[in-house]
This record gives sequence, C-alpha cells and structure tokens, in this order.
Amino acid sequence: MDIKENISLKAYNTFGIDVCASKYAEVSSEEDLQHLLADGILKECPFVILGGGSNIVFVKDFDGIVVHPTNKGINIISENDNEAVVEAAAGETWSNLAWTMTRQGYYGLENLVEIPGCVGAAPIQNVGAYGREAKDVIKYVVAYEIATGTKKTFTNKECRFGYRNSIFKNELKDQYIVIAVGFALSKTMEVTTNYSALTSMLCDRNITSPTPLQIAECIADIRRQKLPDPKEIGSAGSFFKNPIVTHSQLEILKATYPNIVCYPSGEHYKLAAGWLIEQCGWKGRSLGKVGVYDKQALVLFNKGGCTGTEVVNIANAIVADVESKFGVQLEKEAIII
Ligand SMILES: Cc1cc2nc3c(=O)[nH]c(=O)nc-3n(C[C@H](O)[C@H](O)[C@H](O)COP(=O)(O)OP(=O)(O)OC[C@H]3O[C@@H](n4cnc5c(N)ncnc54)[C@H](O)[C@@H]3O)c2cc1C
Repeated sequence: MDIKENISLKAYNTFGIDVCASKYAEVSSEEDLQHLLADGILKECPFVILGGGSNIVFVKDFDGIVVHPTNKGINIISENDNEAVVEAAAGETWSNLAWTMTRQGYYGLENLVEIPGCVGAAPIQNVGAYGREAKDVIKYVVAYEIATGTKKTFTNKECRFGYRNSIFKNELKDQYIVIAVGFALSKTMEVTTNYSALTSMLCDRNITSPTPLQIAECIADIRRQKLPDPKEIGSAGSFFKNPIVTHSQLEILKATYPNIVCYPSGEHYKLAAGWLIEQCGWKGRSLGKVGVYDKQALVLFNKGGCTGTEVVNIANAIVADVESKFGVQLEKEAIII
C-alpha cells in the first residue's frame, strides 16, 4: 500500500485549512484496510481517520498518519415488498448515496441529502437534518478493530446512537475504522415533514403526498438558502450542537427570554444554538480570518487563509458569551485535531 509523506491536507478538509500530515494513506478497498492494519503502523504512530473532512478542524500539522477511506459502492443486499437493505462503502459520498436511493423511490434518506462527507463518518456522528438522523435508517455498521484487525458488524442498537453521537465517539473512540454501512430503506411512504421550512415549502409547491425525491428537492433548496456551499466557502457546517435542557431549565430561560427558540427533544428540549449566538451579537461578525455566517449563526467560515487556531479562538469567544448571557454551555460539534 502506498503511504505518502508530507501531504498538505488543504484539499481534504472543507474548512480549507492548510496543514500538513507527515503520512497519508488512501484505503480504496477492504483488502487495503486489512493490509494497513496487518502492517501495524496504526499502533506505532498517531492516526486520524479522515472522511470528507467536513467535520474536522486541524489546528496544527498532523505528525502521524491520516487514513482516508475511498472505497466506493452502493449495493442492494435484499429487498421485499416493504423495504430494501442497502450497503454503501465507507468512502462513498454521503449525498450521492442519499440522492441515488431517493431517486430510486426509497424513503429514508431524503431529509439527509446534501450533507457533505462520506458514508463511513455518518454513523460516527449520527448525522442528522430536518427531523431525521442517520440512526433512523442505519441497520448495521461494518468496521475493523484497529488493535486486532478483526472485522465486526455492529447492529443499530450496538452503535448506541444519540444526538450527533454514537459508541464510536465514546467507549470505542479511535478503536474502529468503518468500512461499510447497511441501511434499511422503506418502499412505503414514511416521511418526516414537520420541520417548519419544509412544511411551508411543500405547501407552496402544492405537494400533499410527497415522494422522497420531492422532499429531497425541497431540502436541497432550503439548505442552499441557509448554508454555505463548501465548494465556495470553507466551513464545517454547524459548528456547535444545539444544547439540550430540561423543562425546568427552559422555564427559567423563558422567564427572561420569552422568545427563546427551542424544540421538544424526547423528554427534554433542544435550544437553537444559532439563536443563542445571534442574541450575543455574533451573527455576521468575525474575528481574524473567521466569520460567523450571516444567514445561519451556527456556521463559522473561512474568510480566506484562516488557521485552525483562529477557528477555535472565535468558537471559544462565542461559547464564553453564550455562557455568560444565558448560562448555557455550547458544545462544539466539529472535531478539533
Ligand atoms: C456545509 C456543511 C453542512 C453540513 N451540514 C450537516 C448537517 O446538516 N447535518 C450533520 O449532521 N452534519 C452536517 N455537516 C457536518 C458533516 O458533514 C458531517 O459531520 C459528516 O458526517 C462528516 O463526514 P466526513 O466524511 O466529512 O467526516 P470527517 O470530517 O472526515 O470526520 C468526522 C469524524 O468521523 C471520523 N471518521 C470519518 N470516517 C471514518 C471511518 N470510515 N471510520 C471511522 N471513523 C471515521 C473521523 O475520524 C472524525 O472523527 C455539515 C458540514 C458542512 C461543511
């Protein structure tokens, strides 16, 4: 396997941060991954698994090996009248998977189109958007244990998915490399359209029984209005998670901020982090070469040539302001390396 040395990662992270990795290996097949693990290099030096680099901020050169799965493939494994099980390779582009299955009429991924990144990262982060999460459709995750090189298939339950969270960010952090993900997609109408921007767009388009493609097209249009196109503006999407609060915490906040934006989330409530940031006056502002996006304050973006440290600096300043105004701790969604 070809391990390259001193590679710039600028083209491999959507923030466009120019750092260098001392070693870089592309894994283009399961066999490649087996060879890499048998070689033992991941036990000898620091490593990072890099998908599309759309949720990672590098603050300095990486003195170790960057492993980049690039294996491709989307295959229907089984199908009956109600559902299809589809397996996608870790290096497949997530949005390509979502559009491909949606165009074929399967329900399940339509709300998740246009999320940048690769299939392999989706279960790590449990990507989500517009009322749906990857966990709603992931049936299993195929991964290799780095320490032993053994292959394991995790069921949905074993992944212990949570809000932008999974076992792979906790107990099994940095222990497995995902090589493929299996999805159960529905052939009958199962939609989530209660997100207000989606509801009104479907209404404007006179769509009452939406096909998956109609939903995906609305989602793509909504995303275009709110989020920067990673091809044009460097960012990691939403930089912060929406904080979860209890009913009593919400009531206390509401007493001072009656217009606080929140959504029910199980037994608790999710506060709109973008609203909190906006109320602190950060929307449209910048610090150094990093800006807060003027259409969505959750998004930090590269104004040109920013460093990872500048991203972290503005993020920390925002966290401090939100904490001091609302007493709420914002958690970074992006991974800082
Ligand atoms: C413009 C924009 C919009 C976005 N919108 C959304 C959104 O709507 N919803 C949302 O949830 N996210 C969103 N994101 C964030 C991002 O797209 C997701 O977190 C995505 O899943 C990251 O995928 P990636 O392949 O780029 O992962 P990376 O950023 O490369 O990696 C993310 C994490 O996953 C690990 N990882 C990656 N691949 C593997 C693998 N094969 N095996 C093991 N670990 C692996 C990495 O080590 C790292 O810890 C957005 C980002 C951008 C730039």
